[in-house]
Amino acid sequence: MPSIAIHPSLDSGFKATDAVFSGGTLVCNCATNPVKVRVKGDIAHNHVCGCTKCWKPDGAVFSVVAVAPTENVEVLENGDKLAVVDPTALIQRHACKDCGVHMYGPVERDHAFKGLSFVHPERFQETGWAKPGFAAFVSSIIESGYDPAKMNGVRDRLRDLGIEPYDCLSPELMDFIATWTAKKSGALPS
Ligand SMILES: [Zn+2]
Ligand SMILES: [Zn+2]
Repeated sequence: MPSIAIHPSLDSGFKATDAVFSGGTLVCNCATNPVKVRVKGDIAHNHVCGCTKCWKPDGAVFSVVAVAPTENVEVLENGDKLAVVDPTALIQRHACKDCGVHMYGPVERDHAFKGLSFVHPERFQETGWAKPGFAAFVSSIIESGYDPAKMNGVRDRLRDLGIEPYDCLSPELMDFIATWTAKKSGALPS
């Protein structure tokens, strides 16, 4: 039985990662004048995401997405090709107008993730970034047309890859957001 496709970087075996990834340059898919975005330092919370908003390469069921401090993200080249996909969204996804790749997505609104930018590490020209640690919004792949009858197989395949499936974010990140909200409301001391 053919195994269930998750994402090209995982389906054929994830390459070993360096103990320390020190950042690199994200490059879009354009053959000429690609957008280049520099990320200084390591990324965090790398995961696969099944939501309908994240950019995915052709054929991928999930995106691979991580965060970096926005202050560490800098557009190096061809920034004039970038446009925000949905200005009303929490994540201001800056996509290349020519090839569609999302290059970085800062959170600027008052939110637990404020000051972080979402990036797709597969666009790094460098290797060595950490393997995705969990799967977020797994049930949401159905919203993109995935067969609901195959969801058990998807979750089994993710667990085989060592990627625990969740239908929102990981418990760690859900707790982080709830703590931020409780401190803001005064339910917890800030
Ligand atoms: Zn492009
Ligand atoms: Zn997503």
